[in-house]
Amino acid sequence: LGKSSLLCRCLISSKAIRGSKQLSQDAAIRQGLVGMVGRTPLVRLNKLSDETGCEILAKAEFCNGGGSVKDRAALFLIRDAEHKGLIKPGGTVVEGTAGNTGIGLAHICLALGYKCVIYMPNNQSQEKIDCLRTLGAEVRSVPVVPFTDPDNYNHQADRFAQSLENAVWTNQFDNTANKRAHIETTGPEIWQQTGGKVNAVVFGTGTGGTLAGVGTYLKEQNPNIQVFLADPQGSVLYSYIKHGKLERSEGSSIAEGIGQGRVTNNLKDAPIDDAMVIQDTDAVAMTFRLLHEEGLFVGASTGLNVSAAEQVAKLMGPGHTIVTCLCDTGQRYYAKLFSRQVLAERGLLDCIPEAYRRSLHD
Ligand code: PMP
Repeated sequence: LGKSSLLCRCLISSKAIRGSKQLSQDAAIRQGLVGMVGRTPLVRLNKLSDETGCEILAKAEFCNGGGSVKDRAALFLIRDAEHKGLIKPGGTVVEGTAGNTGIGLAHICLALGYKCVIYMPNNQSQEKIDCLRTLGAEVRSVPVVPFTDPDNYNHQADRFAQSLENAVWTNQFDNTANKRAHIETTGPEIWQQTGGKVNAVVFGTGTGGTLAGVGTYLKEQNPNIQVFLADPQGSVLYSYIKHGKLERSEGSSIAEGIGQGRVTNNLKDAPIDDAMVIQDTDAVAMTFRLLHEEGLFVGASTGLNVSAAEQVAKLMGPGHTIVTCLCDTGQRYYAKLFSRQVLAERGLLDCIPEAYRRSLHD
């Protein structure tokens, strides 16, 4: 290595050090896995921003230690249980989850010395099940039945936790420690990272924690910030926000972890200005655009979020800043979302430009 490359490195580092206060916080040593939850990058989606004339920004939640937006909720749910004395060292955390909350919990359980049991509907991706098992969680895959059925995965999780000593059902849907994670972390991060220059946020909703928490915090800072809910096919929330009725929209979605059949405690008092349904064709098309145009390998709920952000940009017009999130990585859905056969069966192949179909496997 010559003198010039050394000089170059020195210049880069001294420039970086002079850069900003933010850098010193971001560069700080994180305290183990738990310290790797939160303080995610806010990423400008360059192509979409240039096309719409808006700043379309996204929290890169796959950068959390467990790889998804749900790590924040998982940490707050466990801390809440500890704080309330519901779990002691060596105890068992039990949860009903589409997978990402489970993966977040399983990581944190390993780091903090808890056992982890996950009840999961049996229509979720194999990658998430494999990941949970690798993380030492006991996975109980159960038939998909509505929340009103006593055998719904959440009620099974509740009953199992009650049957054990030193165990807690963290109850991500109705325990508002979930929403608090986003009031105390995601919301303030967005406010700081944008310097308060944000006009709208938009998120798809599973438990409602992200949308309600971020929306609540940001509206407290500036009530003019618009909060949009993006609903997938087959969910009731669009009809609830628009007409106060729990009517399912047409179809079912390939996007996992979002869509809902009821109003959870976490979503109940969320300050939502408007809602939209995003079709799978748009969500999947955007997932492949993000991959090929931005180099971001993400899952379908992220495609849905960003497609919704694009719609909000068109609605509001150029000059606005719109924030959403990149929920998790596409690696969690490799067998499903990137399968030519699965997409063809769902009628989702044609929405992907020919050039981007090289990412598909047979
Ligand atoms: N995307 C994915 C992939 C998820 O797993 C979830 C949570 N189930 C969400 C989005 C929605 O997050 P929230 O539960 O905070 O509404």
